[in-house]
Formats: sequence, structure tokens, C-alpha cells
Amino acid sequence: MSVYEARAQRAQAAMAQRGIDWLFVSHSTDLLYLIGFTKQQSERLALFMLPRTGRPKMVVPGFETSVFDKYATFFDLVGWEETENPVDHVVRLVGGSGQTIAIGDQLHAIFLLRIQQALAGASYVPGLEILARLRMVKTADEIANLRAAAQGADRSYEALLGQPLLKMTELDVIRFLHAELLKNGHQAVGNGIVGAGPNGASPHHKTSERRLERGEPVVVDFGGSLNGYRSDITRTFQLGETPREFKTIYEITQQAQQLAFEAVKPGVTAETIDQVARDHITRNGYGDYFLHRTGHGIGLDGHESPYIVKNDRTVLEPGMTFSIEPGIYLKGKYGVRIEDIVVVTENGAERLNQAPRDLRVI
Ligand code: ZN
Ligand code: ZN
Ligand code: ZN
Repeated sequence: MSVYEARAQRAQAAMAQRGIDWLFVSHSTDLLYLIGFTKQQSERLALFMLPRTGRPKMVVPGFETSVFDKYATFFDLVGWEETENPVDHVVRLVGGSGQTIAIGDQLHAIFLLRIQQALAGASYVPGLEILARLRMVKTADEIANLRAAAQGADRSYEALLGQPLLKMTELDVIRFLHAELLKNGHQAVGNGIVGAGPNGASPHHKTSERRLERGEPVVVDFGGSLNGYRSDITRTFQLGETPREFKTIYEITQQAQQLAFEAVKPGVTAETIDQVARDHITRNGYGDYFLHRTGHGIGLDGHESPYIVKNDRTVLEPGMTFSIEPGIYLKGKYGVRIEDIVVVTENGAERLNQAPRDLRVI
């Protein structure tokens, strides 16, 4: 049995438990997870339809069936002609009313609206409950890809520090890092954030033409994907001497990141890890300046379950992967964030990122 067929069977078991009759997924990382292929969703419907029992179906544009053939080892392809309404095929395959249909959270609204109109007697629930749960716990192969991605990001960061940084703008820095990611095994790059000086105080700063200046800290947060699996790392370095308070908030952030990492083990909840980082920063007087959650799950998506934030009570299990990225942001001055990807192990956690975390003065 292929890895994808096994995933479909695990999804079916979860559907049976929750009384869900169908799971509908269109082009998205959910589809990539379930069949091993996806592309950008267009105006033409492509819908993977997983029934609670039996063989899955996939409704696809008829002229694209050859694209899907090699993936369709455990499901049947149903092609629709250009003059047909694909939703008619969906209705026929569902074959009955009053069913409960789980909808993948990346199915475009227009398709859901058409399906809801055609199958008005059905009830609709989020597919997230099934898929997020399955996707959270990674296999050894998935972890190997995440590790390779993290190592590529580490090497890219190290390469940056050998550059003539004072001559660069924030955009130069992100372009350099993205080129390095591609040299280091990645096939695609993300958006990335480079915040120099006061720009570093905005956690999601839009990378600009601002030059890096002596005497300033710089926050770099970047990543991409390798075999579909994402990297995401943040480091903060300083160019020459910086104000004394910067060193203080750097140390507090680094300690918070370390304490949160040490708290990770099976049986602990996601929100506890956030609490550990937040308590340390609060005790040191900067709680009001830690503006975001401590982290997010990572896998085929850059941000996925679990979320390391108050009220996420997901109980950590071996194989879960997420970021730990506390930060302190002093508006008008500078910011600090330190981010690593970690994987929960049998008795603790392993950092996938190994780029040095101690403050680098360049
Ligand atoms: Zn962010
Ligand atoms: Zn990041
Ligand atoms: Zn992140």
C-alpha cells in the first residue's frame, strides 16, 4: 500500500469516528498530502472526494486526466467536459441527501457555494478537524525533509554573514538569502522579512530599500520549501556597537527561546510552551513587547497546526514539528526575534536549526 493510500485510510477512520460521510479537497497542500500532487487552483474544479468507506473519486477537467493518471492508483478519476457542470458529477457521486460533508479549508468559496446549492440537504463541517490532526504528526520521511530544509536555511544564513553587509539594503539581503536557499536544496522560496534598525521592531515588517547601518541590529526571517517541506528561521545580529538595552533584550529573548525548547516533550500542551516563553519575558519586564504567539506548526505549509499560543491545548506527541520564535519589539528603536524549528521526540525535543543563536556582532 502506498503512503498516500495509507493516509486516505487513516482519514477514513477519523471520518467514521466523527460521523462524516465525505471529505472534499481541491488543489492545496491537503491534496498534496493525500495524493502526492497539487497545483494552483484555477476556475476549473478539481475535487478529491474521499468517502467514509470505499474507493475515493476525483473529479477533474477531462483534458487533464493524463496529468493525474500516475497518482490515481487508489482512486478513480472522473473527467468533466468543458461544456459540463462539474458539480453535476459531484452530486451523482455523492448519491443521496442528508450526508455530512467535511470541506478542506483551502477549497475556494465559489466551489463550496455551488456544491452547497446543489446538495442543499447535506450538512457541512470543516475538514481541518480530520486533516490538521493527521498532518500534525510527521513520519520519519517528512522529518528528514524538514531537517534538510532547516539545514539549507542554516547554511544560507551563515553565507549571509560573510557578505559586505554595510553596503546592502534589506531587499539585497532577502534576495541573497533566497538565492542561497535555492543553492542549498530548496526548490522554492517564501516572502521573507529583513528589518534593519527600527524596522526590526515591526514583527511583519515589509522588506524595503532601507540600507543596513553601523550601530544597528538586523532581524532576518526567511525560508522556502524543499521537496514540499518548509524551512523558517529567524536570527538577529548587530552591526558594530549597539545600545546597551539591545543586548539586554537579546539575552532575555534567547533565554526564553531556550526555556521554551527545554519544556517541549510528549504530553505537554502547545499553550504551555507559549506560557514558558512568555513568563520569562514578562518576569524580565518586557511582556508588553512580546507581540505575537510563540510559534506555529510547520510541514507542507509554513504555518499549520499546532499553534504555540494560549488556548491551543493540543497535546504534544512525538513527530510534531513547530517553530519556537519569541521576540521583543521596542517601537522606534529595534527588535529581536530568534526562531528555530523543533521536532518533538520520545522524551523531549530536537532542534532542526543549528545556526548559532548567540549574539553575532559583525
Ligand atoms: Zn511571523
Ligand atoms: Zn519565520
Ligand atoms: Zn515562523
